[in-house]
Amino acid sequence: MTSEPQVLILGGGPAGAAAARLLARWGHEVVVVERAADPAAQSLAESLPPSTRKILAATGLLGVVEAGGFHPNGGNTALWGGEGRRDDFAGGATGFHILRSRFDGLLREAAAGAGAEIVGGVARLPERVGDGEGWRVEVVLDAGERVEIAPGWVLDCTGRAGVLARRYRVLEAEAPTLAVVRRYRSEDGWANVDATHALVESFERGWAWSVPTSERERHVAVMVDPQLQDVLEGAADLSAAFEAEIENTALMRSITNSAVPAGDAWAVTASMYTSSEFAVGRALLVGDAASFADPMSSYGVKKALASAWLAAVTVNTAIRTPELAGAATAFYSDRERAMYRSLREGLAVEVDEVGERAPDAFWERRARWLADQPQSAADANAPDGPDAETLRDDPEVRAAFHALRLGSGRLRVGRRETADRPLVIGNRIRMAPALVTPRFPGGVRFFRDVDLLRVVHLATGSPNPGALYEAYSEWAAREDLPPVDLANFIGVVALLIADGVLVPGPGS
Ligand SMILES: Cc1cc2nc3c(=O)[nH]c(=O)nc-3n(C[C@H](O)[C@H](O)[C@H](O)COP(=O)(O)OP(=O)(O)OC[C@H]3O[C@@H](n4cnc5c(N)ncnc54)[C@H](O)[C@@H]3O)c2cc1C
Repeated sequence: MTSEPQVLILGGGPAGAAAARLLARWGHEVVVVERAADPAAQSLAESLPPSTRKILAATGLLGVVEAGGFHPNGGNTALWGGEGRRDDFAGGATGFHILRSRFDGLLREAAAGAGAEIVGGVARLPERVGDGEGWRVEVVLDAGERVEIAPGWVLDCTGRAGVLARRYRVLEAEAPTLAVVRRYRSEDGWANVDATHALVESFERGWAWSVPTSERERHVAVMVDPQLQDVLEGAADLSAAFEAEIENTALMRSITNSAVPAGDAWAVTASMYTSSEFAVGRALLVGDAASFADPMSSYGVKKALASAWLAAVTVNTAIRTPELAGAATAFYSDRERAMYRSLREGLAVEVDEVGERAPDAFWERRARWLADQPQSAADANAPDGPDAETLRDDPEVRAAFHALRLGSGRLRVGRRETADRPLVIGNRIRMAPALVTPRFPGGVRFFRDVDLLRVVHLATGSPNPGALYEAYSEWAAREDLPPVDLANFIGVVALLIADGVLVPGPGS
């Protein structure tokens, strides 16, 4: 093993494996240190929504996961705030219900296949060296030998363990969560629920979820606040405590009553946290090491992969264009901060839905904590670009949207102010012009995958908005970009009109 790789990745979970695969593919020398799994530890089942396919494709892992034979994820069945709801994913799309031990193993194989060196061992707390920006890491190899590694860059992908990240951790003290999980089998399956659905249920003392790994096996978990209730109080062991909580539920009780437990219950911490820093010298905190959002969102793995992709882009940029290292790491940090904030805001919606129906301290405490969080404005740096929902509610954007006709007159260019901003282009962050508008004083270039500057450029040559859409679609096809939905495009044009960048001609 080289002692001075270009990139040392601590932890080979989804984040570590995905970043390793990308960086190795882009020609870097990558070493991944992965702690050997505890043979007694149970592996968790988790749900990946269909939207995870996009980031799996971007990290080159979609084929591997599709070939992995995971149980399809067709949607959710919820009993939330006392209301039953069935949500199938739109258009019959499916995600995956994964067993993490197998999923992580496949991702690590893909990383090794791309040229990353995977080493079994435990990484110790990194120490600063040299110019104060670099790091040296001691690793205790599985064979017992200690080695010192002095890499160019370090990615801390060690999840909640956070070998380096722990130093920068900011715990959400008001929302501690303990998950108690148990595996169940039913040889005949479950007739009362869709075999491809994850199940979620709120109850007074917390919430519960069930993820199928096959037609006959489901993991069931209850999430409670360990500061408000001692789960073991009055229970002989964790399995008894788990069953006592299940008695407070309806949907989950129907699942467990008709099935046989496969082994004892086990507990994992699921409390939320973020970090004060996401980049420290030539080290990035990635995936769960950087932040953890409540599993209610089902976005943990997706978030870890998105974080890994951007971390790989950041390191690739810094190695290939050292003069952009500072801008790239600042960009990475902004996106990590925004991604966590938007997941926390999504959680507020779920907690609100339980609302007054469950006046238990668990829900009251979460509602109070979420109400105290600052609300973010439309943010061009949000992980999926600016928040379309916020803009849809903006009266000026709505008015422009409703006034717009495909056959109406030419759109003229009004204000066109730009500033250079860091943007991901291919596998690098580059400084590129972005539109500066009243709604986006910090600059915005892409909205819902539409290149705003290209729209403005094409507007002058297009006799009407319909022709502008045609011209943009032709350009996107030539550039090998995904096709743009017409309604989305009109929404983008409405945004540009509301911000005075495009001005409708007479008659529109
Ligand atoms: C109860 C619960 C339910 C969840 N449900 C879902 C769900 O349904 N869907 C979903 O998308 N997400 C879910 N999540 C979140 C998901 O598990 C995480 O977001 C995801 O695992 C993050 O991936 P990661 O690679 O960042 O970290 P991890 O998966 O934690 O990987 C970290 C890796 O680092 C290794 N490691 C740690 N310390 C060291 C060390 N010192 N040296 C070397 N290696 C080390 C570990 O062995 C591990 O492989 C859930 C989480 C919990 C707790």
